Amino acid sequence: MGKKVLVAGGAGFIGSHIVDRLVKRSDMDSLVVVDNFWTGVPDNLAGITDPRLHFVQCDVENFATAEKFDEILHLASPASPPWYMREPVRTIKANLLGALNLLEMLAPGGRVSFASTSEVYGDPKITPQPETYKGQVDCTGPRSSYDESKRCTESLLFEMHRTQGVDIRIVRLFNVYGPRTRPDDGRAVSNFLSQALTNGKLTVYGDGQQSRSWGYVDDIVDALERYFWLDDIDYVGPLNVGNDREVSVIDIANYITQLVPGTIVEMCPPIPQDPTNRRPDLTLCRKILPGWEARVSYEEGIKRTFEWFRDTVMKGAETEAP
Ligand code: NAD
Ligand code: UDP
Repeated sequence: MGKKVLVAGGAGFIGSHIVDRLVKRSDMDSLVVVDNFWTGVPDNLAGITDPRLHFVQCDVENFATAEKFDEILHLASPASPPWYMREPVRTIKANLLGALNLLEMLAPGGRVSFASTSEVYGDPKITPQPETYKGQVDCTGPRSSYDESKRCTESLLFEMHRTQGVDIRIVRLFNVYGPRTRPDDGRAVSNFLSQALTNGKLTVYGDGQQSRSWGYVDDIVDALERYFWLDDIDYVGPLNVGNDREVSVIDIANYITQLVPGTIVEMCPPIPQDPTNRRPDLTLCRKILPGWEARVSYEEGIKRTFEWFRDTVMKGAETEAP
């Protein structure tokens, strides 16, 4: 008998790339994708015709089935600050209530994998951040619905592992970008590229000196595929996954102004509690996933993402821009 797999959030940016990889598996009998199209879109799964795939449009926290799953991948949550800040309660429900609900559907001996985030480190005081760093997070701040619900969901899964032996895999992803991000997603790379293709003004918040470590989606999904289901690994997490080349926001914006002639940077007010820096310590990741590296530079990854935006979602947008 092959595996029964469930992906929550599979119509989203990263989730749909994961689904692309899952349908290549020969040891899988069925794949249920649960997504409510809050931030994901049907087009992300439009190219998949695998008869094993069954899509359910539903909130992960309300999904009900008598079926049990051998592998559950929980990615259902917005990752973009403007989206999760607009609906914080919904964000907490997606992560935490979603995880609680999914645990009910786990077959005996099954595994739950969870996409946590570098946001658990808050505005870090040490760099790079190893998994042992406890972070600097404000549980009453504007980002708390996201970072605290990720932290609490990590706790839930670790306690299920410790007290009931549930098999878990927890990754902490650092900023991921690439094709299939929505043009109105609001995160830096997708925002800058949408802006480059419309009004030409790239909105940099604050002085732009804040930094992130930008991981191209193909590299990140390579790591997730190995950690979630390919390699025989008994490390439950947490595992940092990302690209450890740290680059400031202004450098990313300036690069895009060179890539797309005629675009300019527009300096805008800072956003509250914007983390000043973020860079993964990948020592553990390299040990757990030997040979894996984030290979795509931001220069190359942004070019590829730009081409995707230009040729798909933003087609015709130039003529509609004010
Ligand atoms: P995304 O917004 O593109 O995808 C999230 C998907 O989950 C969407 O399809 C959305 O419709 C769905 N969803 C949200 N709430 C739901 C709910 N209650 N019920 C069912 N479906 C729901 O985001 P993404 O960038 O693909 O991120 C995927 C996961 O990875 C998220 O859990 C996110 O927190 C995590 N993550 C992403 C990044 C990143 O840089 N992209 C970084 C760290 C962690
Ligand atoms: N950012 C920016 N302009 C934008 C979008 C984002 O200057 O149009 C900045 C944002 O303030 C942050 C960085 O880019 O410092 C990364 O933001 P993003 O939303 O992509 O990810 P996160 O803040 O969650 O790391």
